Amino acid sequence: MTESENSTESANSTESENSAVEDARTHELRGNLERLRERLSAAENDRHVGTGPVDLIAVTKFFPAQDVQRLLDVGVRDVGENRDQEAAEKARSVPDATWHFIGQLQSKKSTSVVRYASRVHSVDRMSLVTALGKAVRNHRAAVAEGQAQGGPCTEGDLDCLVQVSLDDSEGRGGVRPVDLAALADAVAAEEGLRLGGVMAVAPLGSAPEPAFERLHGYAQQLREQHPSATQISAGMSADLEAAVRWGSTHVRVGSGILGARPVG
Ligand SMILES: *Cc1c(COP(=O)(O)O)cnc(C)c1O
Repeated sequence: MTESENSTESANSTESENSAVEDARTHELRGNLERLRERLSAAENDRHVGTGPVDLIAVTKFFPAQDVQRLLDVGVRDVGENRDQEAAEKARSVPDATWHFIGQLQSKKSTSVVRYASRVHSVDRMSLVTALGKAVRNHRAAVAEGQAQGGPCTEGDLDCLVQVSLDDSEGRGGVRPVDLAALADAVAAEEGLRLGGVMAVAPLGSAPEPAFERLHGYAQQLREQHPSATQISAGMSADLEAAVRWGSTHVRVGSGILGARPVG
């Protein structure tokens, strides 16, 4: 298969949508994805804990909806976003993708997020638990009355992960480990939500592996109270090996698949 000369501006092209010939950007994404999957399977073979395939979530923030469609075309359905406005727009144009909300979330945005998100990875406080639960119940009522279109939370409870802070600064988001159990209990008790597990971002300026080892410990404690909370969302482009070594079940990879993000 050859790429046509004029496909170089394809990153912003909508003409390529129905094209039988793979555009240059799709070709690039496919290559990046192949390399990333090789890294991931090497990491899976080098684990201290955990078994089974690690799920890949492609983080598409700052990249256009066309890239989400291209990812679907090359077999990646799970995509992550960290801002509601951007995510909501893309989810409208690519409804077949499975949307993961991974960023800090203002409670008032819950109403929007529950319309498209299959999972919220970044639950970090009680007020957000309450807001998400209420938003799910309101959305279901609106759908039942024919006033809104369905969405993932009309098919089952909204999967929520509690984000844990792995350093003691709160800058990168997440609940302190001592507060994890209470927040997790609140998610599990909230009608419309389901507790899926934990999420974390490695601390800045220190080695990721000891932090992910701690996260694994927190996840194990959580499972004693909530046996079905089995997910560990950890690992990004730079540190996925360390996260997978300590039992990550879901890695969130942006630049490693999509390339460098425009500086925002
Ligand atoms: C942007 C982002 C990622 C992906 O980061 P990369 O370094 O590009 O892989 C993962 N998780 C969260 C929470 C993010 O905001």
